[in-house]
Amino acid sequence: MSHLLIIEDEKDIVEAIEYNLKKENFKVSKAYDGSSGLRLAREKKPDLIILDLMLPLLDGFEVCKNLKKETKTADIPIIMLTAKSSEVDKVLGLELGADDYMTKPFSMRELIARVRTILKRYGAKKAFALAALKFPDLEINWETHEVKVLGGTVELTAMEFKLLQYLAENEGRVFSRERLLDNVWGVEVAIETRTVDVHMRRLREKLGKAGKHLKTLRGVGYKFV
Ligand code: CA
Repeated sequence: MSHLLIIEDEKDIVEAIEYNLKKENFKVSKAYDGSSGLRLAREKKPDLIILDLMLPLLDGFEVCKNLKKETKTADIPIIMLTAKSSEVDKVLGLELGADDYMTKPFSMRELIARVRTILKRYGAKKAFALAALKFPDLEINWETHEVKVLGGTVELTAMEFKLLQYLAENEGRVFSRERLLDNVWGVEVAIETRTVDVHMRRLREKLGKAGKHLKTLRGVGYKFV
C-alpha cells in the first residue's frame, strides 16, 4: 500500500484529497503547515507528497527545497498544489524538484491519475536502481538472487535471501522479530520468534566478513547497516 503525505493548510481540501485517496486504498498522513509537514516527511518517508505552495510557518517552496536537499527525502516525489497559475510558480516548483503541479481548483480524478503515474514511474526507477545493492564487501542481486561476499558467491536458502533482501532494502530500519515474521515469512500460523534468531545466525555465518552488516539490537530486533 502506498503511503502519501498531504501538506496543505486548507482543511476542506485536505479532507477531500484524503477521502479520495483512501477510497483508492492509499495510506494517508497529513500536515497543516510547512514545518510539521517537513517533520512528518522525514519521519515517515512517504512514497509521495502532495504539497501546497502557500503554507503557514514554511511555504511549499521551502519545504520542497529542504526535502530535495536531504538524501533521506530527496527521492520522494512531490506534486505541488498552487492557487496561482502564473508560469513563474510552475517553473519554480519544477526547478526545485517537484515532479508535477496542479492549479487549484483541480479535479480529484486528475490528481489521483497523476499520483498513480508518478508512483509507477518511481516504482520502476527504484526497482531498477535496486536490482543490485553493492557495498565494498557485499553485493546482493535481486534479479539473479546472487549474493557475493568479497567477490565470492555465497549460497543462501530462499528464506535467508528473502530476509537479507528485506533488511537491506530497509537499510537502517530496526525490525522486531514479530515484524520480520509478518513481513518476511508472511505467515499467519504461529512460528516461534526464535526462528528469526536461528535464520539470522546462519545468515551471519554464511556472510562471514560481511555478516557485520546485520546488527542485533538487544531486546528490540535486527537491522541492516
Ligand atoms: Ca494554502
